[in-house]
Amino acid sequence: MVVAEVPGSATAAPRSVTVLGSTGSVGTQTLDLIARAPERFRVEALTANSNASLLAEQARALRPAVAVVADERAYRPLKEALAGTGVAVAAGADAVVEAARRPSDLVMAAIVGAAGLPSTVAAAERGALVAFANKECLVSAGPLMLDVVRASGATLLPVDSEHNAIYQVFDDAAGRVERLILTASGGPFRTADPAAMAAATPAEAVAHPTWTMGAKISVDSATMMNKGLEIIEASLLFDMPESRVDVLIHPQSVIHSLVEYTDGSVLAQLGTPDMRTPIAYTLAWPERMVTPSARLDLAAIGRLDFERPDPRRFPALDLARAALKAGGSAPTLLNAANEVAVGAFLAGRIGFLDIVRVVEETLGRHDVRPLASLDDVYAVDAEARALADACTARLAEAP
Ligand code: NDP
Repeated sequence: MVVAEVPGSATAAPRSVTVLGSTGSVGTQTLDLIARAPERFRVEALTANSNASLLAEQARALRPAVAVVADERAYRPLKEALAGTGVAVAAGADAVVEAARRPSDLVMAAIVGAAGLPSTVAAAERGALVAFANKECLVSAGPLMLDVVRASGATLLPVDSEHNAIYQVFDDAAGRVERLILTASGGPFRTADPAAMAAATPAEAVAHPTWTMGAKISVDSATMMNKGLEIIEASLLFDMPESRVDVLIHPQSVIHSLVEYTDGSVLAQLGTPDMRTPIAYTLAWPERMVTPSARLDLAAIGRLDFERPDPRRFPALDLARAALKAGGSAPTLLNAANEVAVGAFLAGRIGFLDIVRVVEETLGRHDVRPLASLDDVYAVDAEARALADACTARLAEAP
């Protein structure tokens, strides 16, 4: 397991927290928990992309030292909304990275997409506790990101419910873990026929049956690329080869993932599908905190169902596995092409089934190469976006 342990538990002093992506689904749930426990937490910095009004509302309530928007056009409205509060305001991608560098105890990395990579790396470089929601940056920068974590002694605490579940029951001393089993709800199209999937609208694709999440991850759940990204994330975080990371469809999203040991024991973490539970785990780590999440009532649920994923219906799973096995630039490319394709789908430019086509075609047009530095990651990311843009443009024009 590469997730470093750090000594010490919560002290009497409040833990200072920076939330990158505070206006998103994970970000707002993080602030909800922080607001409920003012004696335990203090907010150092909040960042968003362009949603100045919500960011200003959050900053007025929680009084961070600084509030930052990545999109410079949102600077003026944010500045005006926070006038007289004493909260400093900044804008631009570099200012988001600066926010991550501020000396908080814990950084919640909840920006969506590879856009979150520079700030997450900045938090890891200074050895912070990094509550890690932004799976795209780990998929994109993989081993290089883990090198940063190892070098600085930072602690990665997985927020993704599946990886958080595994983290809670994972003990690989002396190689006792045989297999990780990631559960998956199967998304809104688990049983849909291919024609319905081909005609799916963005509204249908983001209507997740069990979780309420941001638009991008909801579409990823519908294609199951989300589970593909999670296979890569699990392999990196828990140092497991691709062949020992399985996926199990479990529509109720009650068992959040499982770890199988060499003696046949299987340990799992369960709970109602509420992201505040894994978010709280990371905020309070290594302690626990009270959450308002609904308690699990297994008798009321009555039954739990399981099935194997259908690789023909969800080809994204095999694409992600192939990228993980290929290594080097392949996962970076997979992630960037997927971000472009999901954006094009949400904008109504391509169809739902085109998303995976774009990823597959982009991978097919690229020779996998090793990544020696984060600059290599940014270069491959840009290259993949250009290839995927060309592919989406062609599909958008097709009759
Ligand atoms: P959202 O789309 O709801 O929120 C994204 C956040 O990132 C917003 O604060 C947004 O600001 C900000 N942001 C977007 N683009 C940029 C940018 N270029 N630079 C700086 N900030 C930016 O996403 P989610 O909260 O759903 O997901 C966040 C991450 O957590 C993703 O990686 C996702 O895969 C992961 N995750 C999410 C789960 C969930 O339940 N939502 C569960 C497990 C993992 P603005 O509001 O101004 O646009």
